[in-house]
Amino acid sequence: MFQRIRSYCLSGIHAIPVSVEVDSSLGLPGFTLVGLPDSAVRESRERVVSAVRASGYSVTGTRTTVNLSPADLRKEGSSLDLPLAIGMLLASGEFEVNQIDRFVFLGELSLDGLLKPVRGVLSVAMSLVEEKDSVLVVPKDNIQEASLVEGLNVLGVSSLLECIEELKKDCSSLLIRSQGFSSHLKKNHPSYPDFKNIIGMEGVKRALEIAASGNHNFLLVGSPGSGKTLCAKCLPSILPEMTEDEIIESTRIHSCAKSIHSQNFSFIAERPFRSPHHSSTMVSLVGGGHQLLPGEVSLAHNGVLFLDELPEFNRQVLEALREPMEEGSVCIHRASGSIEWPARFMMGAAMNPCPCGYSMDLKKECTCLPDMKVRYWSKISGPLLDRIDLQISVPAMDITRLKSTSGLESSATIKKRVKVARTFQEDRFKNSKILYNSEMTSLQTREEAKMDSEAEHFAITAAEKMCLSARGYYRVLKVARTIADLRSSKNVEKLDLAEAFQYRLLK
Ligand SMILES: [Zn+2]
Repeated sequence: MFQRIRSYCLSGIHAIPVSVEVDSSLGLPGFTLVGLPDSAVRESRERVVSAVRASGYSVTGTRTTVNLSPADLRKEGSSLDLPLAIGMLLASGEFEVNQIDRFVFLGELSLDGLLKPVRGVLSVAMSLVEEKDSVLVVPKDNIQEASLVEGLNVLGVSSLLECIEELKKDCSSLLIRSQGFSSHLKKNHPSYPDFKNIIGMEGVKRALEIAASGNHNFLLVGSPGSGKTLCAKCLPSILPEMTEDEIIESTRIHSCAKSIHSQNFSFIAERPFRSPHHSSTMVSLVGGGHQLLPGEVSLAHNGVLFLDELPEFNRQVLEALREPMEEGSVCIHRASGSIEWPARFMMGAAMNPCPCGYSMDLKKECTCLPDMKVRYWSKISGPLLDRIDLQISVPAMDITRLKSTSGLESSATIKKRVKVARTFQEDRFKNSKILYNSEMTSLQTREEAKMDSEAEHFAITAAEKMCLSARGYYRVLKVARTIADLRSSKNVEKLDLAEAFQYRLLK
């Protein structure tokens, strides 16, 4: 008998429909699987046969041919276990189901027939949103994720046996109609540290406020223990809340990366703050690898990617960040095709000014030889440094100031100003594809950063004196535009430019 079962496979964050075609006939017992399966799919036969036996059925003793269609798409992962098991049972006549075309199956089987959660369920659910009659059958642990899409029929089952029983009963007991995203949205308290707990460092706080307002990349340079990392960790607390679209998009990426699904599933409702270790490889940072998983740059989408101890990262790994920083996405090419992952993030980094860490310190002496410093700085290339809008010097903390704790601004107050600046940008870019000042092209920068002749003269003279490249000059103008937005000013003035030039510490 022939059976066709519907399922989906992932290609990046997109879900692609896949048909599992099973033909079961009499003859010498055997099993053939065709249609570009990867090793996890090829191994599924062993899992499926054991799971079927554990559920009290049998599919051995027949000649079974399975085709995964379309044949030119590489099928990865273990989510095809459940559709394969159901297809084999139906093809061998173990039980019958009305309108099997209505059902879309996803799930990994264990040998005892229990279902384990799989990646990318949210993407599949979104592909099915137009089909009001379809039923998405997923492992119980994935049910919350599947029900983020409103109006979808979802059946969550914990084992193959439960799935069979439900199908026999026409899913009368477990089927739910999902309420959608808003029913899951509960206001939880932000988990990021607050700026009000940081004493002093007003200059750094101001610079991070500008970074947050225009989504500018930043680099903090300062002595060890000066509070660079702590300041950066407070940054998400002043970024505006995520929109619904952003939440869905980020959750999809995290769901495809296997980093969220579990019984206590929660979607990404706070701006991600990813801080990968400096020993990270190219694949873990940019994405790809055997399973073509998203990297840290994509997991930081709509949030912050923070690289602490920047010079300790492999130089090639850092260079690979240039493409996502410019494009807002990462394209990974393989022989089997190419995949694009969204990667629109704010990049932050921190480093010491020299290997010993004290060349900017007024109290401690730097013990580095000149060539050690040169080698240290040479780990960060000019083009990368050029792409960092705000290069911020973090002075060592004056211990005597630690006593005063009054009058410190909270993150909520700063966030209000950031939101105002972002409103100006929303208005400015409502007819274009970009969202923030940091993404403007040079032409847009010239148009939007309107200056009077005195301010322009000042900008050009300062850029010449500092030997800025053309790109460096435009970066300064973009930062000055954001500073003017924070003042709610239409024109960029000399004081905005003067402040913006301060943040070109290195180049
Ligand atoms: Zn030193």
